[in-house]
Parts: sequence; structure tokens; C-alpha cells
Amino acid sequence: MDEKFTLKMRDPKVVSDTRLLGDFAVIYCRGNHAGAAKAPLASDGATLGVYGHKPPMVCDRCADLLTYAEKRRAYCSRDPKPFCSHCDTHCYKPEQAEYMREVMRYAGPRSLLHGHAIDGIKHVVEGRKAKKAAALRGAATPDREESR
Ligand SMILES: [Zn+2]
Repeated sequence: MDEKFTLKMRDPKVVSDTRLLGDFAVIYCRGNHAGAAKAPLASDGATLGVYGHKPPMVCDRCADLLTYAEKRRAYCSRDPKPFCSHCDTHCYKPEQAEYMREVMRYAGPRSLLHGHAIDGIKHVVEGRKAKKAAALRGAATPDREESR
């Protein structure tokens, strides 16, 4: 854990993004890895208290994903950060990107019932803006689940 990571994990925007991912991973893990042993996340972010007193209870695989996601979020060079699905910088490795998409697809709609309705609305609004901006640039708009 270096200084940049520690500093970033104190940024309220980074904290809320990271917590949201933690909530998503819990919803996904509960629904898809019901048989797997779960433990409170013991990542660097959790050590720094990003998730508050109750770190997400997830299986090993989901814990790895969250640990990876914390790093990607902390070292994101975009400011302000666009939603990852609308970003043209692909900072995730393909395997983790696919796993994260799966988590988002599963937990996104379900999270609306868990107090994340506002985040969901923001995502749709930002998605439309990103699509428009891409169209204006003449770039091909990627055919993605959330832009349909
Ligand atoms: Zn899991």
C-alpha cells in the first residue's frame, strides 16, 4: 500500500465508489456463490476503513475482485472519473473486466432495491451523455448492456 493509495482512499468520491462496489459484490456473491465460504473483506481499502466497520462479506474470488477494483479506482488517472463502462481507457485486465461486468449486470438492477436508486439513475443519465458525446466525436458507440 503506497501513499497515493492511502490518500485516494480518503477521497469521499473514491470512498463512495468503492463502497458501492462492495455492496454490489455482496449482492452478487450472495446470489451466485451461495455455497462458498465467506469472510469480511481484508483488503488494503478495508484496513483503511473505506467500508466502515462492516467490510463486505464475500467469498475469496469476490474478495480478489474487490481488492483489484480498489487499486484500479485509486490509480485511475481520470478526474473526474467517468463510469467505467463509459470510459475509453481500459484499465482492467480482460478477466477482471468480464467478472466486474457480470457483477454489475447482476447487482446493478437488484441494488435499486437496496438503497442505490440514485446511483442507478445517475448511471443511466451519464450513459446517455456519454453516448451522445461519442456520437458527436463520430466514434462508434460500443454496444453495451446499459446503453440499450
Ligand atoms: Zn463470491
